[in-house]
Amino acid sequence: MEWFRKSSAPQKGEPKKEIPDGLWTKCKNCGEIIYVKELEKSFWVCNKCDFHFRIASQDYIRLILDDGQLEQFDDNLVSDDPLEFKDSKKYTERIKAARKKSGLNDAVITGTGNIDKKPVSISVMDFTFVGGSMGSVVGEKIARSIERALEKRIPLIIISSSGGARMQEGILSLMQMAKTSALLALLYDEKIPFISVLTNPTTAGVMASYASLGDIIIAEPQALLGFAGQRVIKQTIGQDLPPGFQSSEFFLEHGFIDFISHRKDLKRNISLALDYMAVQPPGQK
Ligand SMILES: [Zn+2]
Repeated sequence: MEWFRKSSAPQKGEPKKEIPDGLWTKCKNCGEIIYVKELEKSFWVCNKCDFHFRIASQDYIRLILDDGQLEQFDDNLVSDDPLEFKDSKKYTERIKAARKKSGLNDAVITGTGNIDKKPVSISVMDFTFVGGSMGSVVGEKIARSIERALEKRIPLIIISSSGGARMQEGILSLMQMAKTSALLALLYDEKIPFISVLTNPTTAGVMASYASLGDIIIAEPQALLGFAGQRVIKQTIGQDLPPGFQSSEFFLEHGFIDFISHRKDLKRNISLALDYMAVQPPGQK
């Protein structure tokens, strides 16, 4: 009868923005009161407990690319409403609200730039836009980002932050998993490196496709990672789950990811990984 009680609870709206607008903010993890300017200087990481605040896609661009310079592609792609989906509000209205709130056209920005003078094709997801969900626009932009890496023979970087496939687009969002994975197989065949960076949270359809297919997979500390939520897994397999089993640290311990990088070291670590995995000339296996 749980659903009766739930119906009186407040409806979930758009995900809350983590970055505060005021002068001071409170760390969600340890409760420390932090001066926002200090937080900015420390890459939005709590200086007391190392909690990584969620940041926008543009912040990652500034953090990782040389001079924060991204040559953006495909920003004109916008979602259609093929199913004429409506829950608490129409899908088209939800998209319109998300565009206004985030200043983005969809949940990923893609383009090319340099990391320590090494050119890369990069995609950065943004959780602010409908929970970083992957619909046909996100899938198509990621696909084109992979094709750009193939065409220019430059490494691919994808920074993920997602609650999964966008249910309002039904099967059209699920097929993005297959589409992006198939293109990544071509990239693999061409021996062009792909670095996947998992940030908090990276789950469901995104985790089950490109996010988990990196040649090197890096995660931010204490990020929530996984496919289904804890309650769903518990109900399905009828077993208790170990504590913290959906964290970066647990994933590292069990070999799913290669290493955890503090945000301040992220650029250096990606750059080092790129040095280790130089692009092979065409045809070399
Ligand atoms: Zn803290």
